[in-house]
This record gives sequence, structure tokens and C-alpha cells, in this order.
Amino acid sequence: MDFLTINCYNLSQVMAKIVQDKYLKNQLRSREFTHFMLFAGQEGTGKLGAALDFAKAVLCAEGSDTACSTCRNCKLIEAGNHPDLIKLGGEGAIKIAEIRDLQRNLFLKPYQAAHKVAIIKDSHFLTEESANAMLKILEEPPENSVIIMTVPDKTLLPETITSRSQMINFGTKAEVGFDKIDNQELQTIFSKSKKIFEKFAIIQRYAKDKNLAKDLLDSLEMDLRNELLQNKDNERNIIKALELVQKSRGYLRANVSAKFVLENLVLNMEL
Ligand SMILES: [Zn+2]
Repeated sequence: MDFLTINCYNLSQVMAKIVQDKYLKNQLRSREFTHFMLFAGQEGTGKLGAALDFAKAVLCAEGSDTACSTCRNCKLIEAGNHPDLIKLGGEGAIKIAEIRDLQRNLFLKPYQAAHKVAIIKDSHFLTEESANAMLKILEEPPENSVIIMTVPDKTLLPETITSRSQMINFGTKAEVGFDKIDNQELQTIFSKSKKIFEKFAIIQRYAKDKNLAKDLLDSLEMDLRNELLQNKDNERNIIKALELVQKSRGYLRANVSAKFVLENLVLNMEL
């Protein structure tokens, strides 16, 4: 078991990010995975998106350090349908029955990929019973399994669990710069009931600067990824919106004006 902790508080945020990325990429390159990682950080710091990206790259048939997005595994993940990606949490208390199901599932051979990945969102909502059952899994994690738990603060989990984890610290929103994005404004951009001129008024502020526009796209993506885990009924539209955000990022890179890119995004976003 690996007890190394990648702690950001003593490093600059940028340095810490580089160390973390390298740690995750190294696993993907070597195809040797840490059985249990804890992604700790305030809401909005991108831990869930990072967990999903990592899971995709673990399960991708290409076996490289980034997911190819074209193989069958990647397509199934994008459609929210991969049998070897298990998503739990995000809906209040995580019940013991869910952890027992997880245990049974993890001990079966992977169906489609070489590994099984479980992402447990908001793991501080594990009940005491669930946490104990989880501990049993972590004491002897099944071969070929990768478990990632997200939590806003590691102190919200029992020490018996955190001590078994490889912790990756995502820090706070202010540290990673997302405090520049107003959450209310994000909601307006997503809201069906808002008029297009109201949405245009908001994006003007972000369109003034390409980096700010990029930050807005990052925040939109993070919100959409969160939404994807929580709102299964609207999966198709959320995935479409995610693709739109990714395309917009490409346009920005290709030096299309930020104003045009964001206006186009708002006009085409259907949630
Ligand atoms: Zn792939």
C-alpha cells in the first residue's frame, strides 16, 4: 500500500498540479494503478472531472496516458454506459446495500476493459455502516480494480479510510482561480427560462479576455460533468453540451474571437 501524499498546501498550486498530473500520467503509462485514490478538494476544483478523465484513460482500449475518445470503451463511457465504470454517490447518504453491490461487482472480472473503476462521489456521505463495509474492500482491494473517492475535505472521512488512500489534493476554488467565475452567472447561462439577451449580457464580461473565456469554458465543463453524474435523464443533452464546450475551446485555440465563440456556445446550448 502506498501512503505517499501529494499535498498541495506546501507547494504552489501550479507546481502541485504538475506533480499530480505527472503522478496520474505515470500510472496510465505504466498501466500499474494505485488501487485507491482520494481526490480531496472544495467543490468546483475539478476533482470529479479529473476522476472521470482518469477513469476513461484507464478503461480506454488504446492504453495510453490519455483516452482516445474513439474506441468502444471510450464511446461507452461517453454514453454513460460502460459496464466497468461504476459511479456511486452524489445523492445524499451512500447506503450499505450500494457498497455491498460494489464489492460484488468489483470481484467479478471486468466485462469489457482490462480494469474496473469505481468513482464514489461525495464519499463523506458514506454512512458509518457503509464506511465499515468500504474498509473491508480497501483492506484487500480486488485485483484490476481502481477506486477513486471524492471528498471536499479529507477530515470528513474516518482516518481508517484516508490512511489507506493515495491522496490527491485539489485545494480550494480560490487557489485554482475559479473564484473569477460567478456561479449565478453560470446558472443563467444554463437556464432555459432566461432570455438570450440576458445570456449575451453575461458573456460580454468573459469575452473581453481570452483567458477569462477559457476559464468560463472550464467551469461550464465542470458543471456539466457534475450534472452528468447526477442527472441521468438528461444525459444526451448534457453530452451534447459537453461536446459544444470542447469545440468552443478548440475555436479559442484557433484564435477565433472569444465573443464569437461564447455567443455561438450560448446560442447552441440546449439543456
Ligand atoms: Zn479509447
